[in-house]
Amino acid sequence: MSDTPLGFETLQIHAGSRPDPATGARQTPIYQTTAYVFRDADHAAALFNLQEVGYIYSRLTNPTVAVLQERLATLEGGVGAVCCSSGHAAQIMALFPLMQPGDNVIASTRLYGGTVTQLSQTIKRFGWSAKFVDFDDTDAIAAAADENTKAIFCESISNPGGYVTDIPAVAKVAETLNVPLIVDNTSATPWLCKPIEHGATLVVHSTTKYLTGNGTVTGGAVIDSGNFDWTASGKYPSLSEPETAYHGLKFHETFGPLAFTFHGIAIGLRDLGMTMAPQTAFQTLLGMETLSLRMERHVQNAVKIASWLENDPRVDHVTYAGLPTSPYAERVARLYPKGAGALFTVALKDGYDACVKVVDSLDLFSHVANLGDTRSLVIHSASTTHRQLSPEQQEAAGASPNVIRLSIGIEDADDLIRDLDQALAAAE
Ligand SMILES: *Cc1c(COP(=O)(O)O)cnc(C)c1O
Repeated sequence: MSDTPLGFETLQIHAGSRPDPATGARQTPIYQTTAYVFRDADHAAALFNLQEVGYIYSRLTNPTVAVLQERLATLEGGVGAVCCSSGHAAQIMALFPLMQPGDNVIASTRLYGGTVTQLSQTIKRFGWSAKFVDFDDTDAIAAAADENTKAIFCESISNPGGYVTDIPAVAKVAETLNVPLIVDNTSATPWLCKPIEHGATLVVHSTTKYLTGNGTVTGGAVIDSGNFDWTASGKYPSLSEPETAYHGLKFHETFGPLAFTFHGIAIGLRDLGMTMAPQTAFQTLLGMETLSLRMERHVQNAVKIASWLENDPRVDHVTYAGLPTSPYAERVARLYPKGAGALFTVALKDGYDACVKVVDSLDLFSHVANLGDTRSLVIHSASTTHRQLSPEQQEAAGASPNVIRLSIGIEDADDLIRDLDQALAAAE
């Protein structure tokens, strides 16, 4: 093989996977095992001391999951990845090595509804807190920071409001503050955006969505750029100082750019236990083999359907960053040249009642709390995923009562338009 770097379409199939050394199996086997036999007592001790990398117990590492970790790290341009049981688990796993009681994270107001709840409510139980800021106002991000700010958190393409983040601008603020930038890249996938190339420190995913792509398993991942100096500021003692939870190991000194990844496995998965199952990793690996093909079609369908809706008299407006009329069109062209994803909201002139009627009348679109499936999906966010939020939070997240969210699948776009047309007619 030459030294020419392999293309995305090659890596999405090959990265991390080799024929099985024991059997020659070409597809990655599901290593459905809890434990692994040690060669001898010295081997066991070396593994437990992290002097040798290998398999001990599947709460920590598993060969099927390891292939997915390597594939994700490769596609996102990181040095390592930790897979876990869901996207929400990945968010906790990303924050866990950074935060101590009393610490805070500065988060965008435009986030997945469940993430707003996790960050505004649930993490308080750990003594952590979040400050929510409009990320178009980079001065406000800097102004919100204090000495206990340990991370900045946003989504690349944000769910559901047709918003895309100017990641380089936010990364610049993070760099000035000397804190890591965490980007949830679920809706974009590395095919549409690679946050690490734009300055992100960590990337989190709900692999439940486009990466698996077929609505079968929940999973998550944290990908580490390896670019952050965890020692410089003295603000990340669990990574830079002797960690008492691992007999005084200094992760940054010992593992260098892989400190975060090793910490995530040796302490995060060991003690929080939010492990991805091998069967899940297998399903996600299968899905990822066709990621670029699916994303191309998702985007193509979304553009066609959003344009049709935008010109329909029953529709008030469509918030899709992929439309030329979007206020973010320039940002999309600059940072997301392959497209702005396939999620958007539609505001109906007849308000809440019409939304409910349309959702109930759609045939091909399934009414579910999911996104990023091959199938087209619909939900009325204000009464479901964003129900726990205040009206102001709903508005900021693009989930007002008069809007429905569409996750456009890879079916025939004309069939989807016909379905929307009949449902809008039924709502009149
Ligand atoms: C679904 C989703 C999550 C949560 O992921 P789960 O796998 O459902 O836990 C987080 N962020 C975004 C953008 C999502 O779409």
